[in-house]
Amino acid sequence: MPSKIIDGKLIAKKIREELREKVKTLEFKPCIAFVLVGNEPASQIYVSNKIKACEEVGFKSKKIQLDESIDEIELMKVVDELNQDKKVTAFIVQLPLPKHINSNLIIDCILPHKDADGMTPLNLGNLAVGNNLIVPATPKGIIRLIESTGISIEGKNAAVLGRSNSVGKPVAMLLLQKNATVTICHSKTINLAEITSRADILVAAIGKPRFVTKDMVKKGAVVIDVGINRLSDGKLVGDVDFDSVKSIAGFITPVPGGVGPMTIAMLMENTLECAGLRKTLEN
Ligand code: NAP
Repeated sequence: MPSKIIDGKLIAKKIREELREKVKTLEFKPCIAFVLVGNEPASQIYVSNKIKACEEVGFKSKKIQLDESIDEIELMKVVDELNQDKKVTAFIVQLPLPKHINSNLIIDCILPHKDADGMTPLNLGNLAVGNNLIVPATPKGIIRLIESTGISIEGKNAAVLGRSNSVGKPVAMLLLQKNATVTICHSKTINLAEITSRADILVAAIGKPRFVTKDMVKKGAVVIDVGINRLSDGKLVGDVDFDSVKSIAGFITPVPGGVGPMTIAMLMENTLECAGLRKTLEN
């Protein structure tokens, strides 16, 4: 039986609609700032999509465009200004940053309660000890997509391909919190296909076009494709060979229209949570 497509676009739209209703009840409009360094076309598109989502849910937004040549100290000053700015509820520094800047150093400067993407060491550390505060947006969206299938995560074998701080590691921690048995795979993993073909839940986040093929997937598995890869003909594809895998998986996310819209919806949700944390801190 062909797999059911998990419609991330539709699920994300519903979340944005719910958020818009919540925002209407607030005394103020949350404001999210986006820091963009350089003119990388993909990052420009991601930020403009995020700004569009802000308008939809009723948030204010602010784009801070910086020159590619900015140094770490200057960028830290920008982050510090946003930390102090009472009009800014939360913000993100769009990754990747130019090679001369240490991303970890910059993210470490963001105040945890203004960290819309949940990427600061404190927010990631909280996740590791099971005391979730602001949860990284993409992993949070992935869990929602898995849960949308109605399949319980508890007791399942889950394989996560990729161990980045933004996707692989945090999604593995969230799956573990939900009582899955989790294997994290990376570029040095041996017998990768053996691991993936035992997985009831397979999350691919490696940035390699159509890497996961049908022979690597267990029949009926939930397959979440995080990858965004632009082919030379301009086509956007994921890390999963969608056309072959959809004939064996139980559920599968498309690219585009799967994880991408959920990441943005979770960013909006996190901003609202940041607003709540600020209120708690002020009282
Ligand atoms: P990343 O930081 O480049 O990490 C890639 C990970 O994949 C690394 O851990 C790497 O292993 C692993 N890897 C590479 N080749 C592999 C192979 N042949 N077998 C097994 N593992 C392999 O990437 P990322 O930031 O996590 O992003 C991954 C993908 O998701 C990218 O396409 C990115 O554009 C996309 N993404 C999408 C969204 C969204 O909202 N849809 C959000 C974030 C990222 P090592 O650690 O050993 O090098």
